[in-house]
Amino acid sequence: MLSVRGLTKKYGDAVVVRGLDLDVKRGECFGLLGPNGAGKTTTLRLLLGLTDPDAGSIELAGIPVPQRAREARMKVGVVPQMDNLDPDFSVRENLMTYGRYFGMPKAAIAARVPELLEFAGLASKADAQIAQLSGGMKRRLTLARALVHDPEILFLDEPTTGLDPQARHLIWQGLRRLISAGKTIVLTTHFMDEAERLADRLVILDHGSIVAEGAPRALIETHIEPAVVEVYGEGVSSWTRDHAGSVCTRSETVGETLFCYTDDADRVLGALNHVDGLRYVHRPSNLEDVFLKLTGRDLRD
Ligand code: ADP
Repeated sequence: MLSVRGLTKKYGDAVVVRGLDLDVKRGECFGLLGPNGAGKTTTLRLLLGLTDPDAGSIELAGIPVPQRAREARMKVGVVPQMDNLDPDFSVRENLMTYGRYFGMPKAAIAARVPELLEFAGLASKADAQIAQLSGGMKRRLTLARALVHDPEILFLDEPTTGLDPQARHLIWQGLRRLISAGKTIVLTTHFMDEAERLADRLVILDHGSIVAEGAPRALIETHIEPAVVEVYGEGVSSWTRDHAGSVCTRSETVGETLFCYTDDADRVLGALNHVDGLRYVHRPSNLEDVFLKLTGRDLRD
């Protein structure tokens, strides 16, 4: 569905996308991750033909971009980072007007509206004004709107940023339905749990280049020890000095917390047992640990 080779974008002297190669298969959910400034939004804009590359090639649904970007965009649904629903129109009217952008006849859009409203869980809100919707409802409507022309591939830019847990789970349910129905999805996210839940495969971008690529599970297995014990409390520095070197496979101190990555959590927990003033959390390692290991803990903006 998507094939990218050597994609490069510069702004002045800054190379913000550096020779990117990407392949997304039909029916796959593909995650694009990276810290702020990594080049995710620029990559999405390049893929949609909204900005021109300095080098490289893009084929979207078999159509070269940016050469035939308008044609390619007809096959794509886009859920932007910020909801840009039209506040002057009702829920139903938003779907109707959006469909018109794709040249759909009114009757064809009207026929699709009930199904889209059902998908968004907004069947009872068809005539509501946008201002009457919650943040989660607006997101679901934006997602339903992106589906109005039955696109083959969906681009989602941070689909659940700003939503509460209930609303996020509803969006995930919707996305899973789409994945089961065979849609191809490309999503950017800052939530590693979201990427772990949804993406079949992902890349981690940093400074415009891919620093890791694979299925979430495989990335965790390849890049990180299986368990983490986060140790904090008053005695953490003396415990770190006396034990971290021998019981942690790898360790990192961040502020007042020691992250002890280990192949043998029992050994770490044994060394923590009955030490006064120490507290700890023991958990399996996750995609966020991989992300922080590969991209560092420094703030990017
Ligand atoms: P991300 O989405 O991963 O946060 P972006 O693609 O927005 O990253 O930005 C990548 C880099 O490109 C950043 O350093 C950003 O400042 C720069 N950049 C993005 N758009 C422009 C632009 N229109 N002009 C100049 N620099 C830009």
